[in-house]
Formats: sequence, structure tokens, C-alpha cells
Amino acid sequence: MKEDMYSIKMRAVRKEKHISGAERIISEKEIEVLVQQLTARALGHSKGKPDFINITIQNIGNQAIEYIAPLNIATITVDDYFKGRECAIKALQKSGLSCKTSQAILNMLKTCNTMRGAILLDIHSLERLEPDENRGVRVTNIDWSFKIKEDLEKALEKKGLNNNHVKEAVALASKVSNAPGIVAELCWSDDPDYTAGYVASKDVGYMRITKLKPLGDSTGGRVFCFDSSKTSIEECIEYLQKKVTLIHKIPMIKDYISYKDFMEE
Ligand code: AMP
Repeated sequence: MKEDMYSIKMRAVRKEKHISGAERIISEKEIEVLVQQLTARALGHSKGKPDFINITIQNIGNQAIEYIAPLNIATITVDDYFKGRECAIKALQKSGLSCKTSQAILNMLKTCNTMRGAILLDIHSLERLEPDENRGVRVTNIDWSFKIKEDLEKALEKKGLNNNHVKEAVALASKVSNAPGIVAELCWSDDPDYTAGYVASKDVGYMRITKLKPLGDSTGGRVFCFDSSKTSIEECIEYLQKKVTLIHKIPMIKDYISYKDFMEE
């Protein structure tokens, strides 16, 4: 008989402001350990001590799981975030967006308020499409399959990338790039201590850029670029929020590329 799977979600808040969140899809025997890990993570976040931590555990039973391939991982090393942002524009253009649209996407992230979810942007009109602009669209029901976790960690370890930020971001970006109508994503964290970010798309893979914002800056977020000529926004949001998705392959992890080499490509 197939084992039931569980969705476990953590959200930590301080004075109604989001501090951290995480989710996993796991089997029953992993629940206890994971509750401990997520509690420790919520209490130890660099954005401060939460006054409210919510952990929910839901049996998702035998819901149809979609198994997807991960995006391959590349890292561009840059000296400062100005150069990082130049690389982001180039990666967005390599994903099929115009220079003007790519610049608009970057500007949107520079000025966005902290949200729990992502901005969903129509690449033709440059209008925001989320039903609730204060919350954004939050991707859930995504994780790495437990069958490949050990090998994944070994592969990431070899390149110095075995941390939660990278594992969770690659999983999320892989699901997002697979969503109907999504052509690219731009992200940098709102964590003031974490300055790396990425551009992700089917064309460029998960392209990590070592600096996309100044240290100490707590502005960050995600922009999902949506092509409304391909599908309806409802179909896209349904997939992002509801479809239970597991990644069942190890990504290819490329060697680091310098700013100069990437810009000359
Ligand atoms: P993080 O990388 O966790 O610091 O997240 C950076 C920003 O991405 C957050 O402030 C949110 O705006 C957005 N974000 C985080 N998690 C998700 C998610 N699961 N779905 C959509 N957007 C998210």
C-alpha cells in the first residue's frame, strides 16, 4: 500500500509582520523531527524573534502528485549588486523578455513592500495580476522527493551550495517555471543578511547571482512573469497554489561563472 504523504507548513510572525516561512512534503515518520527543525528555524531567524509561530500538518493522502524535473543550477559571481542587477537584466532577456520589460521587472522588486507571496506580472501590459496585492501569490505544495534528498545534498555540498535557501529556492523556481504561462522569475530575499538572488526560467535554468542587493537591506520579493497570451491567470494560480509537486531528479550543477564571462556570452 502507498504511504500517505503530509504537507507541513511553518509561518512565523512578529507584530503581524512576516518573519519566516517554510513548507515540506514528507512521510509520517519524518513529522516529529521536522516540527523540531522548523520551530528552531522560526526562533533563530535573523529578522528577529517571532511572537507567533504557526505549524500546520495536513495529511494529503493519495492526492495525485506531479513529479517534475528541477532547473539546472548556475552561479554568477559578481563584485557588487550593481553588476548583479546587470546580469539579472541579461538573464531576463535571455528568457525572451525585452530590455524595457526586464528593467521594469527589476524596478518593481526594488520598490516592493514585504509580502508573503510573489508579484504576478503580465509581461504585455506590465500590470500586476494577483487577486490580493498585499499578499501576492504564494506557491505551496512543492518539495524534493525524499528518495533523492541524500544525493541532492551531496551534489550541492560539492559546490558549497547545500543550504536551505538554495534547496527551497530551486524547488520553488522549478515548480514556478513549470506553471502554465510563466516565462521567467526574478527573486532576491527580504532577509537583510542574504544578498544573493536569482533569475529562473526554462531557458536559463536557475541562475543564482551572488549579489543582487546591498547588505542590510530588507527589501525583497519575487516577480513571476506571466504571458497572458498562453493561458488564463486562474489556471496558473491554481497550479502554483494547489498542485502537489515533487522533484524527482538531481539538477545539473554548473561551475561558477564570472560577471565578465557571463556578460560576454
Ligand atoms: P525568501 O527568499 O524566503 O526571503 O523570500 C523572499 C520573498 O519571496 C518573500 O518576501 C515573498 O515576497 C516571496 N516568497 C517567499 N516564499 C514564497 C512562496 N512560497 N511563494 C511565492 N512567493 C514567495
